[in-house]
Amino acid sequence: MSSVSSNFIQNIITEDIANGKTKVLTRFPPEPNGYLHIGHAKSICLNFGLAMNNNGLCNLRFDDTNPAKEDDEYVQSIMNDVKWLGFTWNGEVKYASDYFDIFYKCAVELIKMGKAFVCDLSAEEMREYRGTLTEPGKDSPYRNRSIEENLDLFERMKNGEFPDGARVLRAKIDMSSPNMNMRDPVIYRIVHENHHRTGNKWCIYPMYDFAHPLEDAIEGITHSVCTLEFEDHRPIYDWCVDNLIDVMDFPYRPRQIEFARLELADTVTSKRKLKALVDEGVVDGWDDPRMPTISGLRRRGYTPEAIRDFCERIGVAKSNSTVDAAVLEYCLREDLNMNAPRAMVVLDPLKITITNYPEGQIEYLDAEINPNKPELGTYKIPFGREIYIEQEDFREEANKKFFRLKPGKEVRLKHAYIICCDEVIKDENGKVIELKCSYDPESKSGSGSEASARKVKGTLHWVEASNALDVEVRMFDKLFIPGCTEEFPKNVNRDSLKILTNCKAEPNLAQAKAGDKFQFLRMGYFCVDNRYSSEGHPVFNHTVSLKDSFKG
Ligand code: ATP
Ligand code: MG
Repeated sequence: MSSVSSNFIQNIITEDIANGKTKVLTRFPPEPNGYLHIGHAKSICLNFGLAMNNNGLCNLRFDDTNPAKEDDEYVQSIMNDVKWLGFTWNGEVKYASDYFDIFYKCAVELIKMGKAFVCDLSAEEMREYRGTLTEPGKDSPYRNRSIEENLDLFERMKNGEFPDGARVLRAKIDMSSPNMNMRDPVIYRIVHENHHRTGNKWCIYPMYDFAHPLEDAIEGITHSVCTLEFEDHRPIYDWCVDNLIDVMDFPYRPRQIEFARLELADTVTSKRKLKALVDEGVVDGWDDPRMPTISGLRRRGYTPEAIRDFCERIGVAKSNSTVDAAVLEYCLREDLNMNAPRAMVVLDPLKITITNYPEGQIEYLDAEINPNKPELGTYKIPFGREIYIEQEDFREEANKKFFRLKPGKEVRLKHAYIICCDEVIKDENGKVIELKCSYDPESKSGSGSEASARKVKGTLHWVEASNALDVEVRMFDKLFIPGCTEEFPKNVNRDSLKILTNCKAEPNLAQAKAGDKFQFLRMGYFCVDNRYSSEGHPVFNHTVSLKDSFKG
């Protein structure tokens, strides 16, 4: 398995180990308010990779401190995605909500130290008191409440005596701090809302900046890796841990380290925005093959190996940058080129009758499963008098560079014979509906005859008509308009799905199972859809194009 080889975080860990800190415990802490996306994959590969590289472990912890948006469906999907990516978390799955009693105790301890107070300012007043980046804030008039009064009010907040927003608990730090996050931040708020795990036990919930460092400290996380936007929050992270580590007897003093988040060009990686696409029915679910979610990539035909390879290649940086989607596609092609079996499917069929081939005769030809893995050998494909080729592989008028089929010229049918186009049949509108061709019986591929080695410029894929399997193939355009500078949702491409219902596949594909991936010769990589396929009737998603399509 690929691992996080060398980066600045690994260097910090190496130094820590050299200084006698022997264990490494990281965590991946998603909020279960949506499905994971490709950005999360980077965080997963990094956190689990650092643990694996250093004989350590990585916790999977759900940061479920915001009851309104969280749901068990998301918990299940996240666990599934992490496993699918190939990682195993340390022990049981963990939940921030398991620590609600401890968080409460921590808050009470801060009150007892005179380091937290109950504040009655409205949200709007609090904004006014907060100051700006250039002006210091003002102390809340409730800042000097006695410890007794604070303990009493906080307990009554917990007991449900006050409505949402009536009061909050704030840390008492410094209203003139240049860091806005240190200006007496809110650490608990009142939310009368059902929680996906604790039900209605609680009506006060801790804020992220308070809960997160404590979760890390409770679990004994050594290196708490997060994205750059939390750099300004590190002082409050440290403040929480340092003030509570002794009284709460935490097993370890965690350290927060920030890295640059992954941004993919022309893609949206925000659960909130992706949820809007699901809710509005622009896509058929979080796992729609066009979505940049892990489940969407999986349904599209991405492999865990390709995603891990991608995360490894892009590395870990300290400043934000955008990665081109072509890098992700490159990693996938590398994998599928080595591993996907080959097949022949005609997406836009044009019928050919081979006039000198015996009527009713079918012969079975050898086709290689994967030219990169000769050890896998060959399989049989039927050939007969009537076949299909792609419409675009025939042109009546074409210049010298068109090496596909044209009147009076020859092409090779892959794994089969050389044919010559003798006659073009059109309907009353002049549209080409059939070709009459003749084949050279001596030219069979691999037969060892002189004619079998005969070189013609073009080679086409094809499917024998009487055994052909009718399949549906789904082609995708980008879900977001490339280069579009409009804000979401105006950058959503509403025309990104094209369903081809008249495709002809070689009969072996009737056995294909959901998730199976193939290279359709000359057409790209495709994956059997897990929603629309049924026994014997695969529906294919276009996964990624071929690097060098050998269109002659
Ligand atoms: P979103 O904005 O999509 O809701 P989030 O950061 O709020 O993302 P969390 O569930 O809180 O989502 O994220 C879990 C972990 O994944 C966090 O440690 C977060 O830093 C990391 N993460 C999220 N998005 C990215 C990204 N684009 N690149 C790298 N890491 C990310
Ligand atoms: Mg978040």
